[in-house]
Amino acid sequence: EEVERTVVAGFRDVPDFPRPGVVFKDITPLLADPVAFGRVTGALAAVAREAGATAVAGIEARGFVLAAPAAERAGLAFWPVRKAGKLPPPVLRRDYALEYGTASLELAASAVRPGERVLLVDDVLATGGTARAACELLEEAGTEVVGLAVLLELAFLHGRRALGGRAVVALHAQD
Ligand code: IMP
Repeated sequence: EEVERTVVAGFRDVPDFPRPGVVFKDITPLLADPVAFGRVTGALAAVAREAGATAVAGIEARGFVLAAPAAERAGLAFWPVRKAGKLPPPVLRRDYALEYGTASLELAASAVRPGERVLLVDDVLATGGTARAACELLEEAGTEVVGLAVLLELAFLHGRRALGGRAVVALHAQD
């Protein structure tokens, strides 16, 4: 089955959010269009199948919105990678640097089976710090990350560099 990589663009540019000088990509219009949303989750499910994934992980919160239906469509497990402080112990945790300050991601170790092949999904790849932290968590839990799939890659921020040699599939890229 050929992966449909051309989806209806449904991004809204929001200047100076969350800080002056940043143009935030709002994907809400795309989520509100069931045809475009279905194409996106279908494409992500196809990426997961082509990569031989056995599970699809999503990064809270917009990554959940994309990864969960993609996993269900592909007949695969869905694993949530959560922002810090949401999960009861025991959790695996990774702290990572943001442009200003730090953030943390957590994974419930019991929800993840070592040896599985996981496709990581998020909405936007920017500097890559978030996705790298999620990859490291999944790898610490003993899984193999077969790749990262995103709806939109902000290529000018060179997030792929932060991900080492890990495979990246972007349904849309902005140069
Ligand atoms: P990174 O860690 O710099 O790659 O930032 C990626 C994370 O921040 C993802 O989880 C995105 O949800 C979020 N993010 C960064 N920039 C944008 C944006 O322009 N629109 C929506 N989300 C963004």
